[in-house]
Amino acid sequence: MTVLPAVGRAAECAELQINLKAVADNYQRLTKRYTGRTCGAVVKADAYGLGANTIVPVLKKQGCRLFFVAQANEAAELFPVLRGGGRIAVLNGVLPGDEEFFIENDVIPVLNDLEQIERWSNLCREYERPAPAFIHLDTGMSRLGLTPLDVSHLVDRYSSLLYGFEKAGYMTHPVAADEAGNPITKEQYDLFMKWYRRLPPAPRGFCNSSAIFRDNEYHLEFCRPGFALWGGNPTPETTNPMRSVVTLKAKVLQVRDIDEPQTVGYGASWQAKRKTKIATIAVGYADGWLRSLSNSGKLLIKGHAVPYVGRVSMDAITVDITDLPGKPLKAGDMVSLLDDKMTVDDVASAAGTIGYEVLTSLGHRYRRVYTES
Ligand SMILES: *Cc1c(COP(=O)(O)O)cnc(C)c1O
Repeated sequence: MTVLPAVGRAAECAELQINLKAVADNYQRLTKRYTGRTCGAVVKADAYGLGANTIVPVLKKQGCRLFFVAQANEAAELFPVLRGGGRIAVLNGVLPGDEEFFIENDVIPVLNDLEQIERWSNLCREYERPAPAFIHLDTGMSRLGLTPLDVSHLVDRYSSLLYGFEKAGYMTHPVAADEAGNPITKEQYDLFMKWYRRLPPAPRGFCNSSAIFRDNEYHLEFCRPGFALWGGNPTPETTNPMRSVVTLKAKVLQVRDIDEPQTVGYGASWQAKRKTKIATIAVGYADGWLRSLSNSGKLLIKGHAVPYVGRVSMDAITVDITDLPGKPLKAGDMVSLLDDKMTVDDVASAAGTIGYEVLTSLGHRYRRVYTES
């Protein structure tokens, strides 16, 4: 690969800044709030799109020693940065054919059904090594984990089923901990405790980001926050207790004046009703800037809300800057699309989705800059 000298390279049209100091501070805020023993970190999907290889060392430095990913191949990507401290667990479980990968690389599976438990137990006997595994009990997600029927079999036969390996812990996943008043969280917790009392002891984990901010009783021995580490609001009903992590800036490509009855963008979905100044900004759905922001997103320019008009296209959005006071925008200016005032949660609500999707969609065309401030 030839690398062009800097002088022969044009500047990128958009810059994504990821503040590593804010990630570190967020981990500290969570550990302060969390009264249990082990505060892990969920770094699946490349740390929600922010770059797990850069983020894991930051969290390790803050004392984090337990990392969760979704897939086995995500675990493999992290081996170089995990060396010398830190364990990795795979939420999707150990699928047939992957067992050797797990045991030979010290990757901890999250066992999601009785068949996986049996296979892991047999494997550990074969290797004569009590390798650790988490056991996932499903208290309401109906996605992964032991069903209530599985749990009753486990209760009846745990001395044989759980033989030969280390029980790293039991876990379950709250389905609505982000909703402050939803009674389902307590119901899930109670069911988890009821099952736990019939099983041999091991560390217990209930909390994702939001559950950490609900009843301290839920904290137990280990927790698995993700979203809050990246500045997402774990308590949507109130102010965000976390620091903002992500800033996205993009260039103005063109500014133009249009008049009634001109339309803007594909599908002519927006029509000028007056003399209008339109700025075209260099970020589009190819950058993960969701198309559902069409005609509903807003930019904040020096504190003034500037509405998106027309559809988000592949490489650009168009905004109405007619009412923007002060010096007019011009091509080449940088505007901010994401920051501490226009957060991933704000963008998500304009797009009809959740901040998780906004984060994990952020593309790779941006210049990515890691800052520490
Ligand atoms: C993704 C995930 C988490 C992290 O949830 P956040 O809401 O991002 O804190 C925790 N546990 C499991 C099982 C998950 O799938």
